[in-house]
Amino acid sequence: MHTYERIADLRDALAPAHREGKTIGFVPTMGALHAGHLSLLSRAKAENDLVVMSLFVNPTQFNDIEDFEKYPRDPRRDRELAEGAGVDIVFAPAMEEVYPDGFDTVVAVRGLSDILEGASRPGHFQGVATVVAKLSAIVASTRAYFGEKDYQQLQIIRRMTADLNIPTQVVPCPIVREPDGLAMSSRNVRLSLPEREAATVLNRALKYTQDIADTGVHDAFVLTGWLARTIEVEPLAKLDYAVIVDRETLREVERIDNSPIALVAATFGSVRLIDNRIITPAPGLERRG
Ligand code: AMP
Repeated sequence: MHTYERIADLRDALAPAHREGKTIGFVPTMGALHAGHLSLLSRAKAENDLVVMSLFVNPTQFNDIEDFEKYPRDPRRDRELAEGAGVDIVFAPAMEEVYPDGFDTVVAVRGLSDILEGASRPGHFQGVATVVAKLSAIVASTRAYFGEKDYQQLQIIRRMTADLNIPTQVVPCPIVREPDGLAMSSRNVRLSLPEREAATVLNRALKYTQDIADTGVHDAFVLTGWLARTIEVEPLAKLDYAVIVDRETLREVERIDNSPIALVAATFGSVRLIDNRIITPAPGLERRG
């Protein structure tokens, strides 16, 4: 496995693969790798000739400087895990390499970026879209792998990739969870023990919402009420939003007939966590309410 810090060096290293028409799988990360990242890497490994992983804590997607500073960093461990997962090339640029003096371009995916996470974290998705556009241009991969844990991010990257005609296939990967159901996240290490326990409420509330849908309740308003209340009764959880939205537009739906997605965000102490789950209607079973 090779690590490159300069764009020019990475391009030189990838040139033969591009010339020979080899497939390149790309997994962008901010490091602090966990089993969620590893699942993306092993999928990329299985589907491509070459796997490139980027390791870059992108400052422009943090709307809160403290969150950026406290973001867990352990590049040596990350490189070891990446090597174990079969990564061929790690791209770990310094901030100035990605944003040199005079850098003046932003990529904004309108609409999708302004709601939900975007409303709570102004500028976040502009930072994400800009860095992913840059990385896509640098790596020029055949496929790029993104987790469904960050569902809104995935939709924004899909939109951007289509709108900007980026010749990379966006591959969504399922959420990897801890044994107790908590979605894996690099931020989980910042939870205190009681907060860590309380955080399982997100997945429990999403599951419970599906359980209620399974009894024949297809009214999204009623289901959203249960979803929100289940989270709100956890004393350590401060609910930001709980919604049931169309899987593409991320607009709230009235009924769950087309299997929309429930998205939740809540803060535990100083740690903001998100989770989601597709809600499917109970076939042939519907009652009022
Ligand atoms: P990050 O390092 O947090 O920017 O995440 C890098 C990639 O890993 C993103 O595409 C995330 O959606 C994905 N990812 C993070 N956590 C998980 C998880 N628990 N399951 C699946 N994918 C994940």
